[in-house]
Amino acid sequence: MNTSQAAPTGASNLVTAHALPSYLQADNLGPWGIYLQQVDRVVPYLGNLARWAETLKRPKRALIVDVPIQLDNGTVAHFEGYRVQHNTSRGPGKGGVRFHQDVTLSEVMALSAWMSIKNAAVNVPFGGAKGGIRVDPKTLSIGELERVTRRYTSEIGIIIGPTKDIPAPDVNTNEKVMAWMMDTYSMNEGATATGVVTGKPVDLGGSLGRREATGRGVFTVGCEAARHIGLDISKARVAVQGFGNVGGIAAKLFAQAGSKVVAVQDHGGTIFRESGLDVTALLAHVAHVGSVKGYADTDVMPDDAFWGVACDIMIPAALEGQITAANAGQIQARMVIEGANGPTTPQADDILHDRNVLVLPDVIANAGGVTVSYFEWVQDFSSFFWSEDEINERLVRIMKDAFGAVWQVAQDNQVSLRTATFIVACKRILHSREMRGLYP
Ligand code: GLU
Repeated sequence: MNTSQAAPTGASNLVTAHALPSYLQADNLGPWGIYLQQVDRVVPYLGNLARWAETLKRPKRALIVDVPIQLDNGTVAHFEGYRVQHNTSRGPGKGGVRFHQDVTLSEVMALSAWMSIKNAAVNVPFGGAKGGIRVDPKTLSIGELERVTRRYTSEIGIIIGPTKDIPAPDVNTNEKVMAWMMDTYSMNEGATATGVVTGKPVDLGGSLGRREATGRGVFTVGCEAARHIGLDISKARVAVQGFGNVGGIAAKLFAQAGSKVVAVQDHGGTIFRESGLDVTALLAHVAHVGSVKGYADTDVMPDDAFWGVACDIMIPAALEGQITAANAGQIQARMVIEGANGPTTPQADDILHDRNVLVLPDVIANAGGVTVSYFEWVQDFSSFFWSEDEINERLVRIMKDAFGAVWQVAQDNQVSLRTATFIVACKRILHSREMRGLYP
């Protein structure tokens, strides 16, 4: 299928016709189609605000840019880039930028919408936005990567800014990329504007604790949920897909709390150790080698077998569309914590629900990153920086409060945590929408 089949009425002109890679075709909806279905599920709970619900089904603004760069061999290559601002009712657009060979406009639209929901769920004063470039960064030299980043930043410079839309790291982007983005924007503006991106190096106006924040948030909501269902974290078996900034840090925190991390899967393969992996040593191996492949003293297992691993907690922390109707039935865990954005399809969500597997949805579970991005943005504006303890303490407080509120809404309405998070967030967004009113 192509993405236009998944497009809503009126938005099909925004969608490119590139064939979707298999993980984006999960259960045949595509990411934007999945998001629309999630919104539909929540409309009955919105009361009078439901009359504004159509707002949520359209991105406010979507920009497609051509990113031409000179390659090291002297030829010119063109890449397609996007920045989508889904909603700005509650504040400036906010969300990451990903570099990946499979990036499509449909995907970036969905990711921007999930940022609107996420930011409202943890009640930070941001709307939702996302960006991406369809490029495999592994094929670029460091110089080419810098040129792609700078040209993309310059192209989207017409819609981003510290009070308009603030990018951050996402899949395959990091502090170094954020430093180039900040510098490019600042050069064009003629003044250093640290607040234009978050996730920067600490020495350039970044925040302590930002790099670990998403993983710490995953761990925090995991502990809260475990308490509610009577699961002892110190005895839990954990399986993690994706061992980067999110999965790696979450695994480390669970291991420190006594959990056994029994299986890890990344792009290099799937490893398993019944007695629990040494997460610190595995992190060092991945930092050195680039993947879990080749890590000593483990059983290598076929990638498909990962989903059936005997565990209590499963953390998909890689890409979208990983837990589908095809593998949801195999999951043994009592709880799935979505470290990635959009890892579970709606069909898989229903299967997990019927099988009594609790899903902690992305829009609350991985909100720790953007929460500390908010702290970073505030610190940049005031040029006054907080200690790591202050950051972590505030992060944990926000995550616990937000998760507690979502848990209560789920209980009160007898709905999934995903629908409950959407209820909380959509009400906040649409309430702002209503108070602001229509212009003109
Ligand atoms: N890319 C991260 C996310 O999906 C962080 C976004 C941000 O900090 O703005 O939540």
